[in-house]
Formats: sequence, structure tokens, C-alpha cells
Amino acid sequence: MVSVYTSWPWITLYLHLCYVLNPGVAQTAKEVVLLDSKAQQTELEWISYPPNGWEEISGLDESYTPIRTYQVCRVMEPNQNNWLRTNWIEKRNAQRIFVELKFTLRDCNSLPGMVGTCKETFNLYYQETDSEVGRSMQETQYVKIDTIAADESFTQGDLGERKMKLNTEVRIIGPLSRQGFYLAFQDVGACIALVSVKVYYKKCWSIIENLTIFPDTVTGSEFSSLVEVEGICVNNAEEEADNSPKMHCSAEGEWLVPIGKCICKAGFHQKGDACEPCGRGYYKTSSQDLQCSRCPMHSFVDREGSRRCDCDDGYYRAFSDPPSAACTRPPSAPQNLVYNINQTMLSLEWNPPADTGGRNDVTYRVRCQHCSWEPEECKPCGPNVGYFPAQSQLVDTYVNVVDLLAHANYTFEVEAVNGVSDLSRTQRLFATVSIATGQAAPSMVGEVIKEKVQQRSIQLSWQEPRQLNGAITEYEIKYYKKDQKDRTYSTVRAKSTSATVNNLKPSTAYVFQIRAFTQAGYGTFGPRMEITTKEEETAAIVSSEQNPVIIIAVVAVAGTIILVFMVFGFIIGRRHCGYSKADQEGDEELYFQFKIPGSKSYIDPETNEDPNRAVHQFAKELDASYVQIERVLGAGQFGEVCSGRLKVPGKRDAAVAIKTLKVGHTEKQKKDFLCEASIMGQFDHPNVVHLEGVVTRGKPVMIVTEFMENGSLDAFLRIHDGQFTIIQLVGMLRGIASGMRYLADMGYVHRNLAARNVLVNSNLVCKVSDFGLSRTINDDPEAVYSTTGGKISVRWTAPEAIQFRKFTSASDVWSYGVVMWEVMSFGERPYWDMSNQDVMKALEESYRLPAPMDCAPGLHQLMLDCWKKDRGERPKFDQIISILDKMIRNPNTLKSPVGTCTSPLLGQSLSNVSAFHSVEEWLVAIKMERYRDNLTAAGYISLESVARMSTEDVVRLGITQVEHQKRLMSSIQTMRARMFHLHHTGVQV
Ligand code: AMP
Repeated sequence: MVSVYTSWPWITLYLHLCYVLNPGVAQTAKEVVLLDSKAQQTELEWISYPPNGWEEISGLDESYTPIRTYQVCRVMEPNQNNWLRTNWIEKRNAQRIFVELKFTLRDCNSLPGMVGTCKETFNLYYQETDSEVGRSMQETQYVKIDTIAADESFTQGDLGERKMKLNTEVRIIGPLSRQGFYLAFQDVGACIALVSVKVYYKKCWSIIENLTIFPDTVTGSEFSSLVEVEGICVNNAEEEADNSPKMHCSAEGEWLVPIGKCICKAGFHQKGDACEPCGRGYYKTSSQDLQCSRCPMHSFVDREGSRRCDCDDGYYRAFSDPPSAACTRPPSAPQNLVYNINQTMLSLEWNPPADTGGRNDVTYRVRCQHCSWEPEECKPCGPNVGYFPAQSQLVDTYVNVVDLLAHANYTFEVEAVNGVSDLSRTQRLFATVSIATGQAAPSMVGEVIKEKVQQRSIQLSWQEPRQLNGAITEYEIKYYKKDQKDRTYSTVRAKSTSATVNNLKPSTAYVFQIRAFTQAGYGTFGPRMEITTKEEETAAIVSSEQNPVIIIAVVAVAGTIILVFMVFGFIIGRRHCGYSKADQEGDEELYFQFKIPGSKSYIDPETNEDPNRAVHQFAKELDASYVQIERVLGAGQFGEVCSGRLKVPGKRDAAVAIKTLKVGHTEKQKKDFLCEASIMGQFDHPNVVHLEGVVTRGKPVMIVTEFMENGSLDAFLRIHDGQFTIIQLVGMLRGIASGMRYLADMGYVHRNLAARNVLVNSNLVCKVSDFGLSRTINDDPEAVYSTTGGKISVRWTAPEAIQFRKFTSASDVWSYGVVMWEVMSFGERPYWDMSNQDVMKALEESYRLPAPMDCAPGLHQLMLDCWKKDRGERPKFDQIISILDKMIRNPNTLKSPVGTCTSPLLGQSLSNVSAFHSVEEWLVAIKMERYRDNLTAAGYISLESVARMSTEDVVRLGITQVEHQKRLMSSIQTMRARMFHLHHTGVQV
């Protein structure tokens, strides 16, 4: 029999060897140990039953530290059942318990004289209890965990060979439901040394990840379970929005699957696992920002942990500015404020301020003050003044001010403002102008009241216009039958604000419109008012309206009117000043005027037999000594045109233009020369060149007119190509239309309206000039003889005037359309280099000039309306003015949408029109091949697409040099012109 004691030395030896070979089995950081037999140096005092079974023995581990072990080796005796039970182990909050056993087990074969009872396994049990249950043991209360056998490294050979090896086995128990448990080892006849028993559970140890603290967490009960753990942000950190931080603790005690995170609060930034305050001069606005940033320009901060920086003195941050924006200040004053007054309309233009205050949200606001002369006192203008596009929040550098009082003094302040202007307490900076308005027609009359409605008469009264703009000399009441087919209407004039319109038909609806007249001309008509006369009474009572005396009077008046009309018709039907004036017969606007003295109508000077008397009827004779010639401007048909000064005693000196009649003239030439003065002298309108007077009683004979500093409009526009805004151009057109309306109202047909016959003064005011048609036409290089005789400027003249000499205000409207085109194209020649013959042919085929570059579609449409073949369909000057006014009030309508201002002809292929066959060839020809890539990249690969380009398109290509932009655009225009030409003539130019 082998005593178990004889075997102990191999355990100690073995232990040394084993620890060297298996260092990895030491406890890791994830484990919480509940029991470790090796750690206890005193006796374990586990229960051994029966007492002669398991035995507690002391030994040494690899570092010669004493350890406590249990062994049993009753292999020689049959029916062994030896139990060893540990002390009670409190499970704490563990769910899944690991039991690690280290043991040696003798090979039964290695035991000499072995009988059949030798075993090579033992059993592991546990018993759950809520507390210690004393030292008695009952087998049945134990639950078996497993039968433990030694592994492959089972000890072989003899004791002396020292081949024993330590086995390590780990078993898991759980989930446990009680407070604690006992482990028990059952030996059924093996030779075992239980070197160590370790019981532990696993846990995920507290960590800081993503600025989040995750606390110690015990693993779940199952091998696969993940315990979800919510984290807590470190100091000065906060959870990321909608993303609270979580982690998962695995059964192995490892943190897995992080979700969400914490981030440093505003004013703090991350340093390692902590959030530290931003330093001085640095800020962090939001937790979303990663880093603290240096304070933006013109701001500072002298404390730590700041969310934003404070602005330096005199600098501000607008409410909408982000904290990262530099602090800014109000802009300086606008620069180069210039103005242009047209009667009571003022346009102001300026350049942006030199200093925008560091912002790009500069807008402008205008302040208007109305100033009295004596004493000089200024008050805000009030709500009656209109500003277009607006009084404040102006993005563009212009504003039009309307409805100013005539002959009044105003001061305008233009201020540049930006997002911080209202925050600043520093003094505001303005650009200021003081202006005086000119004369202006009155505004619309006020409310019209029907005082008395009879069968044949209607009595009306009305209120004075809101703005008189001068002394009202009369009112004109225009009326017509509502249902009439033709366009005739009648007018009645009145000196006061009431009138009775007689000779009406009973039971008939009439439409009335009233306008006021001052020296400055007619105001606009008020709204239409419809009134129906009373029914005719059936009783044959002779009313006062049918009084025979009145009937006679009416017949007499009517007879006189017809006579006047016939004479008038006769007069205007004749040729005068060597040409025929407005041929009114058959015109749709037929005036039956109940004339009262003082009403204005153009009178042909030729009706006067003595042209000298005619001229003095309308023109003032000036003393030759008052006229001082200074400079020769050019040569006219009759002599030199000069500039000079007019010095009438007692009056202010005036700059004048002086037309002289050359010496050695014939009487006929003198008559023709003065004819222009006789016509001009009848006109008094701010958009018609004003005649100062004539010198007929001295030599040379002179016509003295107001001086127009900028000369004729066509040359002026060509010199300033592209330098005016659309609003300015439309303002000029409005002036010309206003002058033409006045002339048409006077019954005067111009016949030769063209940009070259419009003069421009220093305020950009345009005035119609050139009134002696025979002279003008003979002098006009554009004029050619028409087939019907007489000279005509084909490009500006309506077809019916060319073909049948049918000159009317409607043919003037046609010419006006051409002037519009000239103005919008900065003095381009209408129909370019096409011949007159081709122009007429093209017009006959319904082709019209295309929109000039960058024109607004609305403006081109107005031109097209002026060029309606049927002259009855063309707009009247009145309508033209109101359309232009609407556009001026809504500058958006004047913007040219890209691609709209192209000729309708651009659909055709250009390659056979153009002198070039490709974009490349074209660019080489104009020495602009450096932009080939720019054009290709933007998709301009055909000449057709190139021909559609606007200036904006060219700029968009990145071509910054103005000289190059111009060269490209001018060549593109030529390309378009060629197309237009080809389309009408079939001839390639
Ligand atoms: P006319 O003979 O009227 O065509 O005038 C010849 C040229 O003299 C015009 O083309 C203008 O350039 C200039 N001119 C005529 N009238 C004036 C004026 N009132 N003020 C300034 N220049 C004028």
C-alpha cells in the first residue's frame, strides 16, 4: 500500500515548474475574486467528510510562498466517497461565477500494485443558500457542476521522473438566485491534490471614453449577454444632442459597442479625457465646435472659458452675425451723389461708400427735407413724396423721387447703412444735395361730382388737383358717348372747378374725364366717370334746352366750329415752310373744340402772309447787343451754330445756343431760317428746346435758344456707351415722350424725330429740337427723296408716311420707337449697315428691329407696339409715358432676363452667315483666342450660341478686362447684324 504522504513532495516540485510554464492564468483586471485558496495563508478549514478523506496540507508555490492545499489519495480502498466543502461564498452582485481549479491527479497506472478501485476523476458540486448553513453536509442538497478529469498533460511515469503536471479547469455557474453558495468536491477513489481553488466573477471596470464616464459594471448572466450602460459626461461636457452616450459590457468584462458621446460645453475644449476652458483671446460658441478659436477681427476677450468675444470700441455685431464674424462698424457716406431734375421728378445717383464698415450688407436710405426760402427752414417731406424703388433698404445706388412740389427747394440726404448702423451711437454720415424743382404740370383733379343731370346737359364740379404746381388757368373736360364706334370726343374748357356740358342727347351714357392746365402744360386726366342723361319727356313741352333762341345759338356755334374746322383743315392740308404739316383729315383724333381764348394749339406760321410778322407773333425780338457769341459749335445749313451768353438787362445771364444766318442769304433762305423760330416760339415745355428769341433787325440774323450742354443725343450716347443705368436711359426716353406728347397735344407733327434731333443738357434732360422740317430734312444726312417726292429719313419714318406722306402723331410714335431703340443701344445705327431699300423691304415683310443688348423685354415690346403697321394700333404718347412711368416705379421690370433679348432671327444657322466657320476661327480673327477654353467650358461651342450672348454672359465667362468684353460684344453684335441683314436680303455681307 502506498501511503498518500509519500507523494507530497512531487506536489511542491511540480508547482514550481507549472507556474513557470503557465504565467497567463494569473488573475486579470476584469475579475473580481470571491475566493482564492492560495491567497490565504492560515488554514482553510473547509469541511472534509468523512474526516479521513480530504486532508488540508501546507505547501509552497513557485516563489516559495506558503499555500494551503487539499489532497486525497485513497486509491487502494474500494467505495470511496470523500467530500470536501468550501466555506460559504457570498456572490455579491455576480450573476455568472467562474470556478478555476488547479490540481494534480495521479495516473492509476503509475501506482504500483494498483487494484481496480483507482479513479482518475472527481466531481464538482455547488449548493446555493442565502447564508451560512453550518458545518453539516447533505449530499442530496448539492447540484453537480461537472466531473473533472485531468487533461492531456496527465502525469505519466514514476514519481522519480518528476513528470507531474498541474491541470487547470474552469467551470461556470449561474445564473444564481441566492445570496451565496458552497462548492463541494467529491472524490470517488482518485489520487488528487487540489492546489488552488479560485472563485470569481467578471466585471467591466469603469472607464472614460468619449468624455463619458462608464461605471464599474458586472457582466450579464449569459455568455452572450451584453449589459447596456448609460454613461455620465465628464465635468464641463454635455451629451451630444439626441445621442446620449451608452456602452455595452460583455460577458467577458469588455466594453463593447459605444453609442453617442459627450462633447465639451461652449467655452471649453477637450484635453485628453477632460474639458478645459478656452484661454484668453479665445472663444468657443457651441459644444459642436471642436476647438476654441481666436477672437475674430476687432474683438477681444480677457477671461477664460468664454463663449464669444466682445467687440472693440466703435465696432459692433449685428443680431444676425455669428460670433465667428468680425465686428464691424457703420459705413462711411455714399460718394459722388449726383442728381437730375425733370420738372418735379428727381433722380439721385451715387457711388458706394469708400468704407463699407467691413460688411457686405450695405443699403441706402434717403431723407427728404422741404425747405422754405425765407426764412430758410427745412421740414421732413412727408408721405406725399414717392420714392422708387423705395426710400430705404435700397440695394442699388439710385432712387427716383416723384411728386415733389414745383418751384420748391429740397434737401436730400443719402445715407449708407449696414447691419450695425442702428447699433452705433456715432454720428451718421450723409451725402447731401440741395435742389430746386422746376415747373410741372398739375396732378390729377380731385373727386368729380355730378351736380345736375338733365336730358341734354350735365353739370359737374370737381376738386382742385392735390398738387397745383402753378396757377391753374383752365380745366379741360373731355367727353364722349360711351357706346360710340369711332374715337371722336369733345372737349369743354372751364376757368373754375365746375362746368356744364350742354348739347347732350337724352338717355345716353357719356364718359367724362377732366384735367387741369397751368403754364407748365396739362396734367393727366382723372379717372373716367360715366353719367347717363335723363330720359326725354314725352310731353311736348318746350324745355329751356329746346328754346329756339338756344337752338339758334347752338346752330350758330356749330356752324362756326365747322367753319373753323374747315379753315383749320385747309390750313394744315397745305404745304408750309416748304412742307406739309400734320394732315389731320381722316385722323382718328378729331377735336371739336369749344374754344375759349388762351387755349393752346399750334399755328402754322405759313398762315401769316408776312413771315417777318409771323416770327414776331411767336418769338421775342432781342437786341443784338444782348447776344454775346463765344464759341462755334458747328455748321448748320444756313450758317454757323455757336454757343454764347444772353445778357438781357435786369435778368440773369443765360447760356444760349445761337444759330446764325450767313451773310448773302436770299429772302427765301431767311424765311426758311426763321420758320424754325416761329414754330419753336409757340412751344413752352421742359422737354422741348426753348426759344429765347430772334435777332432779325441786325446782322447776322440769329435764332437764340437755350444752351444744351451735351449736344445731340445720338452722339452723346455713343460717347458714353454703356455708362448709364437702364433707369437713366428710360428717364431720358420719358422726357422725350413728354415733349412729344406736348407737341401732339398742340397738334404739331414733328416728322423727323430721331436721336440726332434730340438735345441733351447738363442734367441729362432731353429736349426735342429741329422744327423747321424743310430745313432740317434738307440738312439731315439721313434724309433721302421718297418715291412720292420730299425728303424722308427712311429708318425713322413710319411706312405709311414713306409711301403716302401720311404724317401724323402716330407716325411720330413710330419714330419715337426707333429713338427708343437708339437710346437703349447707346446710339447704335438702326438697321446697322442695311440699305434703305432693304430696311423698307424688311419692314414690309413684318420684320422689326430686335431688342438691343441688355434691354428689358417690356421696353422692346413698347418699341414693337410703336412699330405696329396699323397706325391706329400704336400707343399714344400719353400711354407711352404711363408705361414708362410704371417701369420707372418698378425697376425690376427693367431688368433683362438672360437670354430674352435676342433677335427672333437667331434661330438660323450662323455658320453660313458669319465670315467664320467656327467659334475657334472667330476668336482667332478677333485676337481673343485666349478665351477659347472659357467659352468651351461654358458650352459655347457653336456660333449660334455665341450670337445669343449678352454682356452678362461674357462677364460670367470670367473675362474681366473691359476692353476684351467690349471687343467680344461688338463682334457678337456685328454677327447679329449680319444675320438680320441676310434674313431680309438674302445677301451675305
Ligand atoms: P442744327 O442745325 O439745329 O442741327 O444744329 C447743329 C448742331 O449744333 C447740332 O447737331 C448740335 O450739336 C448743335 N446745337 C444745336 N442747337 C443746340 C443747342 N440749343 N445747344 C447746344 N448745341 C446745339
